[in-house]
Amino acid sequence: MVAAVAAGAFAAAAAGQTLQNTSSNEAQSGAVDTSTDVTPLANTHDASAAMGMGGDAPVSAPQLLQVREPADENSSASAEAQKINRSAELTDARLAAEAEARRQAAIEAARPKVVQPAEGTFTSGFGARWGTTHYGIDLANSIGTPIVSAVDGTVIEAGPASGFGQWVKVQRDDGIVTVYGHVSSFSVSEGERVKAGDEIALMGNEGQSTGPHLHFEVWTSDGGEKIDPLPWLAEHGVHIS
Ligand SMILES: [Zn+2]
Repeated sequence: MVAAVAAGAFAAAAAGQTLQNTSSNEAQSGAVDTSTDVTPLANTHDASAAMGMGGDAPVSAPQLLQVREPADENSSASAEAQKINRSAELTDARLAAEAEARRQAAIEAARPKVVQPAEGTFTSGFGARWGTTHYGIDLANSIGTPIVSAVDGTVIEAGPASGFGQWVKVQRDDGIVTVYGHVSSFSVSEGERVKAGDEIALMGNEGQSTGPHLHFEVWTSDGGEKIDPLPWLAEHGVHIS
């Protein structure tokens, strides 16, 4: 009787499981009473079948265990595995993005923030010249030689300028203004952000110029004092000879 009760309980449990899976053969054939409140005795027959002890129900307990919700279990496990895989992929992607961000930050940190504005021969310095004052330095090279921004900053002017033909002015966030004169053409516009080394113009011979060169000035602010570019550049690690 104890065995029968236990078996009945198993059968009831099996029947309960069967309820959850309408694809069960037994549920389709009606061999198992699928009501959930069956008494143990009423299920002795089914319990025997379920436990592989004979009877007209061909399904043994292990098979029944296999039959019940295999799809649910597998798809659930599969979904879980997919979640884990997806999570791992996201983690990998995040780690890769962070590594790339660190690499870019290192490159940015190592990048010079002040550079020589053009390749050329130093032909004239800051100071008195020809009875007047020369407020910048001249770097001579051929027309079309690239001129780059000496600093990180914002283009505050790009266009015609008296005496310079055309000029470009780039202001750093600290207020310092760099001026590029006599350019034959420029490739930036007012408001544009540039970094030190970005090409902004091409060398020319415009305005009051005795040959193709870049006239470069450094101002303490826009319209402020014009200072000698050489020591300022040297302070920032750029040495022009
Ligand atoms: Zn000059």
